[in-house]
Amino acid sequence: MNSISTYNFTGKRALIRVDFNVPLNKETLAVTDDTRIRAAIPTIKKVLEAGGSVVLMSHLGRPKNIPEDKFSLKNCISTIEKHLGFPIQFATDCIGERAYEKSAALKPGEVLLLENLRFHQREEKGDHGFAELLARHGDCYINDAFGTAHRAHASTTIVARFFPNDKMFGYLIEKEIDSVNKVLNSHEKPLTAIVGGAKVSSKITIITKLLDKVDNLIVGGGMAYTFIKAQGGKIGKSLVEDDHLQTAKDILKLAQEKGVKILLPVDTVYADEFSDAANTGVGKIGEIPDGWMGLDIAEESIAIFRKTILESKLILWNGPMGVFEMKKFQTGTLEIAKAVAEATKKGAFTLVGGGDSVAAVNQFGLENEVSHVSTGGGAMLEYLEGIQLPGIAAILEK
Ligand code: AMP
Repeated sequence: MNSISTYNFTGKRALIRVDFNVPLNKETLAVTDDTRIRAAIPTIKKVLEAGGSVVLMSHLGRPKNIPEDKFSLKNCISTIEKHLGFPIQFATDCIGERAYEKSAALKPGEVLLLENLRFHQREEKGDHGFAELLARHGDCYINDAFGTAHRAHASTTIVARFFPNDKMFGYLIEKEIDSVNKVLNSHEKPLTAIVGGAKVSSKITIITKLLDKVDNLIVGGGMAYTFIKAQGGKIGKSLVEDDHLQTAKDILKLAQEKGVKILLPVDTVYADEFSDAANTGVGKIGEIPDGWMGLDIAEESIAIFRKTILESKLILWNGPMGVFEMKKFQTGTLEIAKAVAEATKKGAFTLVGGGDSVAAVNQFGLENEVSHVSTGGGAMLEYLEGIQLPGIAAILEK
């Protein structure tokens, strides 16, 4: 298999699938969070420094298969130029003669950005012919878009077939794979998974899979109340999935059989409405008064979770401990983020993945204090569940 570190890029055009699906300001269409663009820069620079040129392709948002300004990748040009430090070129369509002319004219050290792939519906369909048209832009193919690696789209998977001997991962995907493998395959102990977020139902597969691996499973967030109710606790009007009470019981039983310690919250911050303006109280999690809902974990739970986190050598975190988007209910998630950062300082390997825990870590400014923050929520969960991601398989295939 080729590696971006050793591949000979001299005089070659690298077609790179990046993830520039960034948020834009609704009025000015300026990039409001450039994390994903910054993350792709090392791969781009590597190719340029090694004597190659670069053709960048990405999707942006969910256009309805027709060009629309609010989904145009031209909105990313100035941000990309700022991080590269020089001007780049742009093709107003990702395929077609004018685009090919531009990519064919690239000189070493130059960069061309293609317009949104999803302006063509053949992209998401994984169309072979469309992938072939994309492949014309490059002498080699680099996939550096982990966030879409679980999709068999033309640019993420099918296009790799046209580069049997010249395909590879970018630095970003390499790091994502290494990080997840480190958590899944390392024999260091204890390994602790922290799961939170809204629902048990969306995380059953991952939790069940994790029970084969972890020593401790910390459960917080909205999903904890289904576990508490399943154990006979009173949860007021907290978020609950009544059709998954048995699931929660099954998970607790399975954990016991596998010798995994499950840590549930013991206390909670409850509120009379789902709002930052709500009246609040603190009490035992199984004794929430009628008409109140638990929206965060409280002090005692934080202390118990913190202790386990600080004793761990490997930590995987997916999902917030409470409604961290509201100031009144962010303490639990913030304190857990701080504990994970502290464990990292003490030498633990810590991986934060999944949309909302990543947003929380970023919001608290702790993204550089954990070992790895995964850029691909759905992709990371599927990878952890043991599902082969088509975008990754396409590179590994002979
Ligand atoms: P998920 O996408 O499943 O990881 O869920 C993330 C969402 O769960 C966030 O928007 C949180 O605000 C929400 N959440 C966390 N804790 C609670 C809770 N106790 N009650 C309601 N929603 C919650």
